[in-house]
Amino acid sequence: MNVIYPGSFDPVTNGHLDLIKRCSEKFDKVIIGVLNNIAKKSVFSIEERIDLIERSTENLHNVEINSFSGLLIDFAKEIECPNIVRGLRAVSDFEYEMQLALANKKLYPDLETLFMVSNTEYSFLSSSIVKELAKFDGDVNGLVPKEVKFALIKKKKAGDL
Ligand code: ADP
Repeated sequence: MNVIYPGSFDPVTNGHLDLIKRCSEKFDKVIIGVLNNIAKKSVFSIEERIDLIERSTENLHNVEINSFSGLLIDFAKEIECPNIVRGLRAVSDFEYEMQLALANKKLYPDLETLFMVSNTEYSFLSSSIVKELAKFDGDVNGLVPKEVKFALIKKKKAGDL
């Protein structure tokens, strides 16, 4: 069975990567769907986000990276993969994720949303926290892979954080 792991990944964190690795052990193929949302301002461009995911998943052989814009259900239909995985970090994620899953199910009844519980080590971790830390020169070691750390330093130097 193949599964889509959709998200903004602005940028990818060790929490995302833990989930990708665990999914790659359970599913035949993990299709990472990077959302290209022009309405939502991202620090990293779609190309940069994809490049960072590519470089940090090099060792996983059943991971594919795609970008999509518009509705996730349309992307899922287009690539003929009716399975989605989302991460749950804390109870606070639950309400939003449940709403999203039910809305997607209403629009595309064959679609299944699977939830994977975050590793406790990363349950506080988000792309926003990482950007906030990097903005004020906080230590992001252990929270993101080294290529993301360097990319964050570059953004900070350019005044883009
Ligand atoms: P979105 O903007 O769609 O929420 P994100 O890139 O923030 O995109 O997150 C993508 C998915 O990864 C979501 O399901 C989110 O709950 C999950 N996720 C984010 N951070 C972590 C983490 N630290 N551990 C596990 N899952 C996570």
